[in-house]
Amino acid sequence: MLPMDCHTHTEISPDSEAKLAQMCARAAALGLRAYAVTDHVELCRYFPQGYYGVQPRNEEDFFDYAQRFERAMQQNEAARGLCGDMCFVSGIEMGEPDADFGLAESLYRDKRLDFTIASLHELRGKLDFYFLDYTQEDAYALLDAYFASLEEISRHDCYDVLGHLTYPLRYIEGEAGIRVDLGRYEERIAQILRNAITRGRGIELNTSGYRQRYGKPLPGERLLRLYRDLGGTILTLGSDAHRPEDVGAGIAQGAALAASCGFDRVCYFLRHEPHWIEL
Ligand SMILES: [Zn+2]
Ligand SMILES: [Zn+2]
Repeated sequence: MLPMDCHTHTEISPDSEAKLAQMCARAAALGLRAYAVTDHVELCRYFPQGYYGVQPRNEEDFFDYAQRFERAMQQNEAARGLCGDMCFVSGIEMGEPDADFGLAESLYRDKRLDFTIASLHELRGKLDFYFLDYTQEDAYALLDAYFASLEEISRHDCYDVLGHLTYPLRYIEGEAGIRVDLGRYEERIAQILRNAITRGRGIELNTSGYRQRYGKPLPGERLLRLYRDLGGTILTLGSDAHRPEDVGAGIAQGAALAASCGFDRVCYFLRHEPHWIEL
C-alpha cells in the first residue's frame, strides 16, 4: 500500500487538465493513506497583468494567480467529501515566494490550507527553467542564483516543505544533457536544509524525475542523505502528477529510497502540522 501522494495538480493549474474527481478516484483506487492537491500559485504573477505593466513572455505566462488560489481553496473544500477514508490534504504549490515574502507568509496562514510546498520554478527576470535555452545559458550561473534564492526562501515562514529541490537539474542534466557538479553547492545546500530543520519544516521527495528523462527523484539520493545526516526528519512524498494516471507514480520507489537513506517514517500535513506514516 502506498503511504501518500502529497504533490498533485488539477485543471486549476495552467499545465493540467485533470478533473479533481478523477484524481481523487485514482488516489482512492491506489489505497493512498493521504492525498494532497497542490495546485500552482505563482507569486511572481499573483496579481492581474495590469499590475505588472508587462506583456506575457510566452503562451504559458499566466497572471492573476490570486483568482486560481481562491478557486483552489473552494475546490479543495469540496474534495474533502470525495475522498472517503483517505486523508485529504488541502495544499498549494507556492511558486517563487521570493517575489513577495509578505504575501507568501500571509497566504501560508490562510486557515483553509493544510499544506504549502514552496517551489522555485524561475529566477527573477528569467523564464521557468523549463523554457530556458541551455545552449545560451551558463548552467553554474543559473544554479548559483537558484540556490541563493532558495536559501532566502528557506529562512521565511511560508512553507511546510521545500519542493523538488534541484529542479533545474531536470532540464540542465535531464533534457540538455549538461553534467554539473553539485559539490560546489554542498555548504549552501546544507544551510538551506538546516534553515528548514531549525524551523520545524522539511523537504519533499518529488518522484516526477523517475518518469522523465532525468531518471532520478528531486532531490537525488546524495541530498536526501545529507538532509538525514543533518537531522532532517520531515519528508513528504509526491508524484507531481498532472493527470490521473500519474497519481502515485514513483512513490513506492521514493519510499524505498527514503528508507534506504535512514528515514523510518514520512509525513503529510494537516493544518501545517506533520502526521506520520511508518515506512
Ligand atoms: Zn513545481
Ligand atoms: Zn508541481
